[in-house]
Amino acid sequence: MFDLAIVGAGPAGMSAALTAADHGLTVVVVDEQQRAGGQIFRQPPEDFSGSVLHPTAGYGWATDLIRRFETDTRLTTEFGWSAIGVLSDDTEPDCLRVAINHPEHGTRVLGTRRLLIATGAYDLPVAFPGWTLPGVMTAGGVQTLVKAQKIAPVGDVVLAGAHPLLLLVADLLVRDGVPVREVAFAQSIPTPAEMLHALGAVPGHLRMLAETGAILARLTRKGIRVSPRTIVTAAHGTDRVSRVELARVNRQWKVTGTPRQVPSSHLVLGYGFSASTELARQIGCDLVYDSPRGGWVVAHDERLQTSVPHVFVAGEPTGVAGADQSRAEGALAALGVAVSLGCAVPRAAFTEAERHIRKATQFSTVVQRMFEPVREALGDLATRETTICRCELVTRDTLDDFLEASPFVSSVNAVKLSCRTGMGPCQGRYCENSVGAILATARKQPIGLGGRFSAHLPIKPVPVGDLQALDAPPEQSEPNDPGTPPH
Ligand SMILES: Cc1cc2nc3c(=O)[nH]c(=O)nc-3n(C[C@H](O)[C@H](O)[C@H](O)COP(=O)(O)OP(=O)(O)OC[C@H]3O[C@@H](n4cnc5c(N)ncnc54)[C@H](O)[C@@H]3O)c2cc1C
Repeated sequence: MFDLAIVGAGPAGMSAALTAADHGLTVVVVDEQQRAGGQIFRQPPEDFSGSVLHPTAGYGWATDLIRRFETDTRLTTEFGWSAIGVLSDDTEPDCLRVAINHPEHGTRVLGTRRLLIATGAYDLPVAFPGWTLPGVMTAGGVQTLVKAQKIAPVGDVVLAGAHPLLLLVADLLVRDGVPVREVAFAQSIPTPAEMLHALGAVPGHLRMLAETGAILARLTRKGIRVSPRTIVTAAHGTDRVSRVELARVNRQWKVTGTPRQVPSSHLVLGYGFSASTELARQIGCDLVYDSPRGGWVVAHDERLQTSVPHVFVAGEPTGVAGADQSRAEGALAALGVAVSLGCAVPRAAFTEAERHIRKATQFSTVVQRMFEPVREALGDLATRETTICRCELVTRDTLDDFLEASPFVSSVNAVKLSCRTGMGPCQGRYCENSVGAILATARKQPIGLGGRFSAHLPIKPVPVGDLQALDAPPEQSEPNDPGTPPH
């Protein structure tokens, strides 16, 4: 049995693993990617030529963190494996059984005393007419293809959304020779008062801000139109996108002008991120709604212990806050895990980890406030014919008619039971935000009041035959005698 199983090898998971190993814990790290780095430092496969990591500006520590993680022989790693759920065993209350699945090798069960959820975030999906057409992609998805597989879109591109990642992706595409037609931001240019407020984000992040300014200058020099207060209202095409509809919006992201058409074979969307909380939901952790921090996020105490015994959380499932904060939280969570297993951890180690988190939070709260999506306005983009749940093919008219006929329904789960939104293999990852926003508008209530979907094992789709292995006893870790307490 391992002392600690970590799901996610991004900045949070890597820093937690190294800190936990430094305190003598046996650690297994599971990640469905082929290599460490997480989303921001996603690496190409080792056999790709020129697979050298060039970390985003401001994250100079990344190369060293990844190198230390990849060369640390104390750690057990399971790359290419997805954690599909966690089982508890009444006969062994101190053991959690983490089910992991591999597309070729099936399912295995790992036994662990503690679990750290460091599963990161994913692109916020937004439903509007045409969003399911081939050629419509998310900014994170495009970045992943370019970074990890060296594949760029063939044809021209319009980027639209509300998150600075759009600029990074536009720059990446331009450097790859992809014709970028326009970058549309739903926000307006910041007012002097907003700029003054944003000064809190500057200390320690000058390089990052300078890089963003340099990208904007590069795009403008190339004649690429960057349009503030502009939202995408539709993607048109027969079997794929051929034209994108953009419209002016006011400060609340409500359409004010007549839409204009921009010919393009791709539309890249970047409205921000949703915290990846499905594993925490499946285990039964409490969640809280916090829109600027990524919607539903995992509740935790000051040492990142969740409401479920033996389960800790770090990085973006606690709130989308950037790689610095994820790395700092990983270290703090590992210290909390070590203490919970009886290790002596000097108070100074906690003080140091907490100092890093405070510093990172100063930046992340400013960014979160500046780029919070106006979720109700995004919900309004879907017309009656728009597909909301792409797994179960439920269109908006089904939801509207149900809500009109059932005036006492006020939760997304009640909508799910009647309309099937969220019942498909993605368990609501694509549609929860749209359903929540549509419900909130219909009931004139805050989105958080509508609650959230639950998640069930397997949290990611697997062949039914692969579930047989869940009956097997958990694997024992090689290096640790289960009876030996950590030191
Ligand atoms: C697609 C994408 C691109 C991004 N690009 C940038 C960028 O360029 N610049 C920037 O500043 N920020 C970017 N971000 C934000 C970025 O996620 C964070 O700043 C940072 O990576 C968070 O670190 P983390 O350790 O919390 O999570 P992540 O880095 O997201 O790491 C989480 C890891 O968990 C793994 N995982 C998740 N669920 C499971 C599961 N069930 N089983 C096994 N493994 C699992 C994932 O494969 C991932 O490797 C991006 C986010 C996304 C979603």
